[in-house]
Amino acid sequence: MTSTNRFASRLALSLAPLAAAASLALVGCAADDVTALGDENAMAAEGLGLGAQGKDVRAVYEHLRRFGYYQNEELAEHYADWTPAVSREPADPARFDEALEEGVRLYQAQHGLPVTGIVDAETQRVMHMPRCGHPDYYDPPGVVPTFEVGTPYSHAGGTWSSSALSYRFDNYTSDLSQSAIRAAVQSAMLRWSTVTKFTFTEVTSGGNIVIGFYTGDHGDGSDNAFDGKSGTLAHAWSPGSGIGGDIHFDDAESWSTSSSGTHFETVALHELGHALGLGHSSYDYAVMYPTYSGVDVYLSSDDHAGIWSRYAAYNAPSGCGWLNAGEGLGKGESVWSCDGRFQFIFQNDGNLVLYKNGSALWASGTNGDGADRVLLQEDGNLVMYKSTGQKVWETDSNSTANQYANLAVQNDGNLVIYRSGGGVAWASNTCCH
Ligand SMILES: [Zn+2]
Ligand SMILES: [Zn+2]
Repeated sequence: MTSTNRFASRLALSLAPLAAAASLALVGCAADDVTALGDENAMAAEGLGLGAQGKDVRAVYEHLRRFGYYQNEELAEHYADWTPAVSREPADPARFDEALEEGVRLYQAQHGLPVTGIVDAETQRVMHMPRCGHPDYYDPPGVVPTFEVGTPYSHAGGTWSSSALSYRFDNYTSDLSQSAIRAAVQSAMLRWSTVTKFTFTEVTSGGNIVIGFYTGDHGDGSDNAFDGKSGTLAHAWSPGSGIGGDIHFDDAESWSTSSSGTHFETVALHELGHALGLGHSSYDYAVMYPTYSGVDVYLSSDDHAGIWSRYAAYNAPSGCGWLNAGEGLGKGESVWSCDGRFQFIFQNDGNLVLYKNGSALWASGTNGDGADRVLLQEDGNLVMYKSTGQKVWETDSNSTANQYANLAVQNDGNLVIYRSGGGVAWASNTCCH
């Protein structure tokens, strides 16, 4: 805890220091043009733009500076090769000039807001949401996304060289039972492992990912001190030894398994993304979007695309007869029945076909649809995806009852997805040959 891996990026889910901006006022506009948004947010609907001056402008500048838009010595120290998103500085941080407008435009683009260059009510609302301390517009060189230029996901730090990861609880919060904490973490890990080749095993000493709850300055540097209830919720470190991969939750929060407090599994799922090497996405539906806005425990296609841009999506099948949960097929790969009579192949044209002696018994009919991988997910669903994360086809056999299912390529010519506890979740109904 006391050692700091300089290659591990710190990622903090934190509330921006915008106390002063809570009373943003329109400059150069008659008082009766000002629309109060509420007691705490007496801000003009028209917003703050070019020519405005004062402490509210400075607060916007400080917010953007903190998250990577302007020169910042702390960010430069913590993030290798980091440079500000805006190459010039405002002449006066308390005066809204073109340099600040450029930063506001980039901020709006990162957060999926209309790009106006004006800090309007919606932009201010987003600035007030809890979020990570990870700088926006930061991709370490050499790890830029490879699938599509301009995809919203991003990377942070390095990657794990092994797919078998271990984790350990350093301590727990009194807000939740240990079994509830463990169940939430396992559920979050399952969501990542179901679309990757990662396995997560709990250990009682050591561990790649150490998980704990802390308050205030808790031993990983005063910069990383937690700040009491709300504000900073958690932070995580990107893959690496020592503190790399570790996830710290602010124990001053009211952690909850429902929406009544800060939803623990939601934050754990996001922080795990950082622990696996992802940065932030600009899609607000993505788990890796910078801000926290309530319960969200489902990875989006953008999260899939992000993790697949760093790691293989599946384990290749080992041996005949089966696809086990977490295994899949790339283009041209196949599983044979153990008697060698039936071939289940994901063809280069994107079609998934079961052949007997060169004649098709069953096919998904997805040739030309652009899928480039097939996964037997740990939720029991057999899914064909594009590398962008878009689902092309599925057996629709996902169910909690199907966890750790297996797909059998049987000697009788039937394809069957068996539930882990027994029973059939899906079948091609091509028996018996
Ligand atoms: Zn984050
Ligand atoms: Zn910490």
